[in-house]
Amino acid sequence: MTHVVTRFPPSPTGYLHVGGARTALFNWLYARRMKGKFVLRIEDTDTARSTQASVDAIFEALEWLGLDWDDGPYYQTRRFPVYREHIQKLLDTGHAYYCTCSPAQVEQMRQKALATGGKPKYDGTCRTKNLPPGDTAVVRFKAPLAGTTVLEDVVKGNIVFRNDELDDFVICRSDGSPTYNLAVVVDDITMGVNTIIRGDDHVMNTPKQIQLYKAFGCPLPLFGHVPMVLGRDRARLSKRHGATSVTAYRDMGFLPETLINYLVRLGWSHGDQEFFTKDELIEVFNLENIGRAAGVFDMEKLLALNADHIKAAPAARLVEPLAPFLRETGVDIEGDPKTEKVIATLKARSKTLLEMAQSALFYYQEEIVYEEDAARKVLTVEALAPLQSVTARLEALEDYSEPSIEAVFKAVAEETGLKLGKIAQPVRVALSGRTASPGIFEITAIIGKERVLARLRKAMAYIEQKGIA
Ligand code: GLU
Repeated sequence: MTHVVTRFPPSPTGYLHVGGARTALFNWLYARRMKGKFVLRIEDTDTARSTQASVDAIFEALEWLGLDWDDGPYYQTRRFPVYREHIQKLLDTGHAYYCTCSPAQVEQMRQKALATGGKPKYDGTCRTKNLPPGDTAVVRFKAPLAGTTVLEDVVKGNIVFRNDELDDFVICRSDGSPTYNLAVVVDDITMGVNTIIRGDDHVMNTPKQIQLYKAFGCPLPLFGHVPMVLGRDRARLSKRHGATSVTAYRDMGFLPETLINYLVRLGWSHGDQEFFTKDELIEVFNLENIGRAAGVFDMEKLLALNADHIKAAPAARLVEPLAPFLRETGVDIEGDPKTEKVIATLKARSKTLLEMAQSALFYYQEEIVYEEDAARKVLTVEALAPLQSVTARLEALEDYSEPSIEAVFKAVAEETGLKLGKIAQPVRVALSGRTASPGIFEITAIIGKERVLARLRKAMAYIEQKGIA
C-alpha cells in the first residue's frame, strides 16, 4: 500500500467555516488512520481577496480543532517558478500552446457555441498555429477533442464527462501567472498528494485536472467529493443559518472534540454510533462510509453532543477552556485549588462552557447577589431558624468534609422537624443566590467553611432586615 498523502488547501478569503473544517477533518483523519501525511497549502493566488488575517484565522481554527499538519504550510504565491516550469513542460511535450485570441474574440466564440446549442467554449483557433510566446499570449491546454474523461469518485461513483464539452482551457495568463486548475494539479503532484477529499462544488474542475495529470504522465490521485453542509431549510449552510465560523463555536463554549465529532458525523457514519472521541475516529474513520447525502447542520444536536463531551471530559481537561469565560467576569480560576471540584459538580449539567461559567460564578464571587425570585420565595422569616442552626453546627465542625456536612443537615432536620429540602433551599440561596445548583453538601464543602459562614450570616441579616422593613 502506498503511503497516503492527503491535503487541505484553503483559499484565505475569510475565516475557516464549518464546511471547510469538515473537509480538513476528513483528510486529516484519513491521513492519521493510514499513518500517512497531511499537507497544508494556502491557495492565495487570488491576491485581491486573500488576506493575512484570513490565513491567521484559518491556522487558529485548525489549531483549536487539533488538526495538525505534517507538511507545509505552502503558499501558492511563493511557488510561481514551479508552476512556470510545469507549464513549460506541457508546452515542450505538445500538451499546451500559446494563444493570442483577445478576450473579446473568446467571448464571441462562447456566444456562438451557445447560440448553436453547444457549451460555451474556446474554438481552438490557435491550437495548431504553433505561436511563439508574446506579451499578450496566454497558454492553453491542448485538451482531448473526443472521447470521455471519467472521474472515479470514491463517494459519488463514476462520473463521465464528454471531452467535446470541455475546451482548451487557459493554464497560464498573459502576465505569467498560473490558473487555478494548473496550480492545484502541479501542487498535488509535487507534494506527493494521492488522496483528495473535497467539497462537491469542485466536481466540475476535476475533469480538467484529470486531463492535466494525464498530460504530465502522472498517476491519478484518489478523488472523493463530499456533499455540501446544509442548513435546516436544506439550503447551503450560510451566515443566515447562524454562525458558520469554527472559532465562533469555540467562543460560544463548544469543545473542539464536540465539533470534530459533530462534523465527522455530518457526512460519515459508523453504524448508529453518535459519540466518538478523536482517538476512536482515528481508529475507525474510512472513506467507504462517507455518505452521498448532504448533512444538515442542527444546532440542537450540536448542543446535545457538547453536553455529552463536557460530561465525558475529565474535570482537569476543562479548566483551560473554561477559564476565558470566567475571566470575562473578572474571575481567575486557573491555579485555584477548588476549580477541578467546581467543574466536577457542573460537568453533567452544562450544555456549553459559557453555561458552565455562569453556573460556576457563585463559587468564586466575593458577594453573592440573590436572584430576585429566589430571595423573595426562599429567604423568608421561616428560614431563619434552620439557617441559624446550620450556621452554628457548621461553625462547630472540626472536620469540614462532605460527610460531616451531610450529618449537620440531617441533625438540623431532626431538631427542627423540617424536611431536608426546607433546610437545603435557604442554604442554597444563601450560598449561590439561586434556587438551583449542584448538590447542597457538595457546594457547601467546596466553597469552604469561612466563606460559607459569611454567606449564611449575610442571608440571615438580609432576612432580618427584610422582616423589619
Ligand atoms: N482552495 C479550494 C477551496 O478553498 C480547494 C481546492 C481543492 O480542494 O482542490 O475551495
